[in-house]
Amino acid sequence: MPGFEVFGAQERAQVNEVLETGVLMRYGFDGMRQGHYKALEFEQAFAKRMGVNHCQLVSSGTAALSVALASAGIGAGDEVIMPTFTFVASFESIMMLGAIPILVDIDDTLTLDPKAVAAAITEKTKAVMPVHMCGSMADLGALKALCQEHDLILLEDACQAIGGTYNGVALGAYGDLGCFSFDFVKTITCGEGGAVITNNSKYKVNADQYQDHGHDHVGSDRGAETHPTLGYNFRISELHAAVGLGQLARFDEILERQKAHYDILAAALADLPGVHFRRVPQGGVQNYSFVNIFLPTAEQAEQAQKALSAAGIDACFYWFKNNWHYINGWEHLTQAKSVAPLTPELKDTLLGLKSKDFRQSDHFMGRTLSFLVKLGWDEATLDHRAQIMRDTLKNI
Ligand SMILES: *Cc1c(COP(=O)(O)O)cnc(C)c1O
Repeated sequence: MPGFEVFGAQERAQVNEVLETGVLMRYGFDGMRQGHYKALEFEQAFAKRMGVNHCQLVSSGTAALSVALASAGIGAGDEVIMPTFTFVASFESIMMLGAIPILVDIDDTLTLDPKAVAAAITEKTKAVMPVHMCGSMADLGALKALCQEHDLILLEDACQAIGGTYNGVALGAYGDLGCFSFDFVKTITCGEGGAVITNNSKYKVNADQYQDHGHDHVGSDRGAETHPTLGYNFRISELHAAVGLGQLARFDEILERQKAHYDILAAALADLPGVHFRRVPQGGVQNYSFVNIFLPTAEQAEQAQKALSAAGIDACFYWFKNNWHYINGWEHLTQAKSVAPLTPELKDTLLGLKSKDFRQSDHFMGRTLSFLVKLGWDEATLDHRAQIMRDTLKNI
């Protein structure tokens, strides 16, 4: 997955253009910036690459999720359905707005189970947030049908699957809104950064204003701009956007290499008895950032991860016992530990998580192993890894 592996001359050249002008901010200072609008340039190029009308860059993927929800009118007391397997950013971005995260089960796609989503819809539900974990997507067709039936927003968190597609549409572009992270471990990076994409021009205007104190961005005198709405500051800096432009130029090359490496590792495991790959919904193409497999039992999966680690296979994740990606590790969430007060309804919902039945999620997560696909491996390293993975799993 990591874009950090390929930081180089193109990124440096982009950043240097910004450093030479000294205009580190994306707005204003038109006279000094010598024509450099890195954030704007990234937004235009990225929207084009994703096949959508609009892109809004922001300071992180988490900010992108909050900004996307807010831009679609989701806020205090509204319920947003999200999966038990994701990154903590999912519930953080919802709670930031005073909205209520409703956690539901995943299935063998390792993403939202449409049946669990359908069962969780109430009159307070405003959005469904599938998270395309570890390179592959949720069953977007089923989720879109549910959202249409119940008049809900479909917001795709495509942070871990950028470059993947569903029915030929870029992940993130299929729902009403899509979000990406460009943090330091994502497929392409800005150092820190995120993006919202949409075809809805109203959401774009809202996102643009919301992420910059409500500025309308009309005219050329920033101080004289009006504020049609309340906003906050989730702006990206020109320096970060410049890094992203350097990475974006190599995006397809990165994806190609990622797939080539994935194919070698996946082929080594394909015919092993007891090893099954995670399901990719029909019509979906992964971005190949992880090889994800199920073993027959949770005990075998945990044992395999330990054996693989002992055999020198790093970046093999057993999410079931991970602090950041599965509900088992989120006692700060389930105990509502917050430095500042939470609204009573949010607190009640969080404390209620303990008595919820997530056995279906446990059934899949307990047996899942994910292998990060790195770009820097040469052929010999890849073959060696593939062999060790195969031999170790065979013994288990
Ligand atoms: C990385 C990530 C985010 C958050 O991105 P940041 O830029 O680190 O805030 C959100 N969702 C998922 C699935 C992620 O992997």
